[in-house]
Amino acid sequence: MPTQQALRHLQDAFRNFFDKRAAYPLFKKKRGTQSAEYTRSAFKWEAAHRHLTIAKVGRLKVRWSRTFTSEPTTVTITKDCAGRYFVTLVLDETIQSLPKTDASVGIDLGINRLATLSNGDRLANPRHLARYQGKLARAQRLLNRRQKGSGRYERARLCVAKLQARIVDTRRDHLHKVTTDLVRRFDVICIEDLNVRGMVRNHCLARAISDVGMGEFARMLDYKCAWYGKELVKIDRFFPSSKTCSACGHRHAEMSLDVRAWVCPACGATHDRDENAAKNIYAVGHTVKAQGGRVRPKRAEARKGNPRRTVNQPVQHRA
Ligand SMILES: [Zn+2]
Repeated sequence: MPTQQALRHLQDAFRNFFDKRAAYPLFKKKRGTQSAEYTRSAFKWEAAHRHLTIAKVGRLKVRWSRTFTSEPTTVTITKDCAGRYFVTLVLDETIQSLPKTDASVGIDLGINRLATLSNGDRLANPRHLARYQGKLARAQRLLNRRQKGSGRYERARLCVAKLQARIVDTRRDHLHKVTTDLVRRFDVICIEDLNVRGMVRNHCLARAISDVGMGEFARMLDYKCAWYGKELVKIDRFFPSSKTCSACGHRHAEMSLDVRAWVCPACGATHDRDENAAKNIYAVGHTVKAQGGRVRPKRAEARKGNPRRTVNQPVQHRA
């Protein structure tokens, strides 16, 4: 029953607090995302008809976004702040590895471009936020003029929430397409182990970094490589990938962020800043791999304590 699950979640929250892993639990807001978690006895799944029945609610009309073969162990129904309902299932699926391509690549993540590949491919930054910024600002101004708690306030709030949800969905959809394509094309992918949380603290870049979705890009690559039998090599974030010449190894003392292209003073090679960085990341990634260094990032091990988040990737469905 969801009510019992809520108590279990509260207990987890307090345990995390007393073990100093988290802050004191807060009350949830009614306006935010609402969720109910159903354990095995509280729902029924009929695979033949794809019927999902929830205790005290009945059969759900679900628009399934994907197929699965295993029996769900937990069902979570969420309603997001834009008023949409989702079904998330915890599954034990065996995922088929993708065919090997014998290709590998280094990737430099950025803001001007989402990613630059060591083979010269460029993935543009679609700037999802910029596309909706005007509309969003107008909706937010309207919300600001409404009286809190009124019916018109609620309608204006929903309007803002829907726009924000649209931006988030578009961004995620694009990142999924890009990362899946990369995992299909390459067996070994080398990226920088970026400290996105630290970078976002720079308020001049925070919006651009969040909008391009660097952290999410790396996270998707990480779990998709694990799923499909590919390898993700993360290299030290302090390696000077931009400042080093990928042709001769000459290292600049300083290079400001606005230098997009440069000529190496030692060997005369002309470099695109990001492509040169991607080539260096590729080279370092392969050295790390050959030395049998820590290929998996540290976080993957830390996360083993909660296998539900890694092994059973939740499947989201629109109800
Ligand atoms: Zn050089």
